[in-house]
Amino acid sequence: MEYGLSTNTYNVPQSDKPISPSNFSAEHHVFSNLRAIDYYLSVNAGHMLDLPIFSGGLGVLAGDTLKSAADRGVSLAAVGILWNKGYFKQNFWFKDGQVPEETNWDPCSYPGLVELEPRVEIPLKKETIHLKLWKFDVWSYDKKHVVPLILLDSNVEQNSEFARKLTDQLYRSDNAEWKILQRVILGIGGMKAFQKLGYPIDIYHLNEGHAALAFLENPKGRFAYTCHTPVAAGHDRFPKKALQEILQDEAFTLLKKYGQDSGHSDLINLTELAMTTAQHVNAVAMKHGEVTRLQFPQYKDKIQSITNGVHTHTWISEPVKALLDRFQEIGDWRKSPALLNNVLNLKDNPEFRKGLWEAHQANKKNLCKTLKGWQIRDDVFTIAWARRIAAYKRPSLILQDVERILDLAKRIGPIQIIFAGKAHPKDDLGFTHVNEMLSTIDGLEKHRDWIRVLMLENYDTYFGKLLSSSVDVWLNNPLPPFEASGTSGMKAILNGVLQLSTLDGWVVEAADKNVGWIFGWEHHGTDIGDERNLRLKEDAANLYGMLENIITLYYDTNREDGLNLNSDWITKMIHAIAQGSFFNTDRMVGEYEQKIWQA
Ligand SMILES: *Cc1c(COP(=O)(O)O)cnc(C)c1O
Repeated sequence: MEYGLSTNTYNVPQSDKPISPSNFSAEHHVFSNLRAIDYYLSVNAGHMLDLPIFSGGLGVLAGDTLKSAADRGVSLAAVGILWNKGYFKQNFWFKDGQVPEETNWDPCSYPGLVELEPRVEIPLKKETIHLKLWKFDVWSYDKKHVVPLILLDSNVEQNSEFARKLTDQLYRSDNAEWKILQRVILGIGGMKAFQKLGYPIDIYHLNEGHAALAFLENPKGRFAYTCHTPVAAGHDRFPKKALQEILQDEAFTLLKKYGQDSGHSDLINLTELAMTTAQHVNAVAMKHGEVTRLQFPQYKDKIQSITNGVHTHTWISEPVKALLDRFQEIGDWRKSPALLNNVLNLKDNPEFRKGLWEAHQANKKNLCKTLKGWQIRDDVFTIAWARRIAAYKRPSLILQDVERILDLAKRIGPIQIIFAGKAHPKDDLGFTHVNEMLSTIDGLEKHRDWIRVLMLENYDTYFGKLLSSSVDVWLNNPLPPFEASGTSGMKAILNGVLQLSTLDGWVVEAADKNVGWIFGWEHHGTDIGDERNLRLKEDAANLYGMLENIITLYYDTNREDGLNLNSDWITKMIHAIAQGSFFNTDRMVGEYEQKIWQA
C-alpha cells in the first residue's frame, strides 16, 4: 500500500526536465515553548519531497526492503499505488491541534518516475476501473542493479469522477467502499499489472493484508504474507454485503470461502484471507511472532518471524560513514553491513572513541543549525520522540509530569526535547494526544531556560534522518506488546544514538546488547491485554527515574572541562553501532530469500 523511498536524501533521482515547485518540501512550522519565535520563523528544508506515497514506518520499511533487494541483486519487482494527493500535510494550529491539508505534488515532473504505455482494467459489478501504470526504478548502492516499482493510478479519463479519486489519498477511510476499492486496486490491479508487463513471477509476497485480494485474481499463485501489527485497527475487516456489491460473483464466492472472519459471520477479514492462502506467513520481530501466534492460534504452525531492519546506506550519517572509513580494520561495511560488528574491536581505541564523539557532535551541530532560531544547543542533553502519533506509541509519556522533568533539569542539567509525528486524520485518540502535547508545551514557556521543547510539523524521512542521527537519546515508549517491531531506533543505533525504550518489538532482541536503557511495564504471558490501557502514570514515573541516571551520565561525559573519553556513554555508542550489523534490511532480505522465497 505504501513505499517510503527517502528519495530526498538517498540516491536522489536526477532529471534534465524542469521540476514542479510542488515537488519540493514546503516550510515546516515548529510549535515550541518559545512561542514568539514560532510565529516568525519556520524550518525551510528546501529539499525534494520524498516520493509522497507513504504514511510512516511501514512504508519506509517497504522502501528500505526494495533498496536492499537491489543491493543484493535479488530478482524482484514491486507494486504499489501512486497516491496523487499523498498522505496529508500536517499543520499545527494552537487550540485546534493538527489540521490536515492535501499534499499537492506533480508526478509528471517527479524525477525518476515514468509513465508506462500499457494499462490495466479491473471489471467490477458496477463499473470497470482503468489503471494507468508508472514505474520508478530503485537502484542499488553500487548502481549495478535495479528493482522496478510499478505504481497504479486510477486518475485516467475513462474512469468515472468517483473512480478517478480512488488513488488520491493513502488510507482515506470515509467508508468501507473507499477502503475496499483501494484494496481491489492494489491486490487485483497489482496482479494484472504484473501479468500485463510480462514479469515471470514465482512467488507473490503480500506486504500487509491490504494486498490480500491479489489471491482472487490468481488463486493458483504461490503467496507469502508478512503481518506487520498486533493492533486491531491494522487488520482490515469488511462487511460481506459491501464486498458483494463491488466484486464480481466469482471473486466474491472465492472470498467467502477463504476470507471468513473467525469472530464474525458477516465479515471478511483480509488478514485471515492472507494467512489462509499464503504458504509462508511471518511476523516482523521475535516478540511479534509470539504475539501473532497468540492472536491467530489457528495458523500458529505457519507463522515464523523475520526481524525487521533498516537500509544502512540510507540511514547512516556522513560523519559516521567518514569515521568508519578511517578505520580500515572494520572492512567493507557498504557491501556487507554485518561487518559493523567489528567496531567492537575498537572499543578501547582512544582515537575511535574520540572520533565517534566528534562525529556525533558534527551531527548534533547540523541539528542545531537547522533549528538555530530556537537556540538548540549542542552541549545540552537532547532527547527525541518521533514517529507516527498513535495512542499505543504513547507520544505524551515524557510530558506526563512536567514538574518532575523541571526538577531533573534544575538539579542535573538542562534538557532539550524534540517531538515530531503525524496522527491519522480520523484517529481521534491520536488527535487528542497532539492537542494535549501542544498545551503542555505552551505551559512550559516560563521554564524555557531549563527545558526547551519543540514539536516539528510534518514529520518526514528528512526529519527522520536528521533527528535519528543527531540527538543524544532516542526515546521509544510503546505499550508492550503492541509495537510489532519499530524501526526508527535502528536508524538511531547506526549513528551511535542511544536507546531509551520499553521492552517491545525489535528492542527485545537488543535488550542485553548494551545499546541504552530499558524501562517500564513489561508484557509476559499469554494475555495480550488491552491497547487502550496505556499505563501512563506508572510508566512515566519509571521513565523519570531512569532519566535521572541517564542525564547524570550525559553531563559526566560531556563535561564543562572537556570530554570524558572513558565514559560508559561512549562504550554504549560503540555497542549501538555494532548492533547495526544485525538490524538492517540486508540481513533481513537475506532471511526472506532463505526462509521464504527460496523455501
Ligand atoms: C523510520 C520512520 C518511521 C518509523 O518509526 P517507528 O519508531 O519505527 O514507529 C516513521 N516515520 C518516518 C518518517 C520514518 O523515517
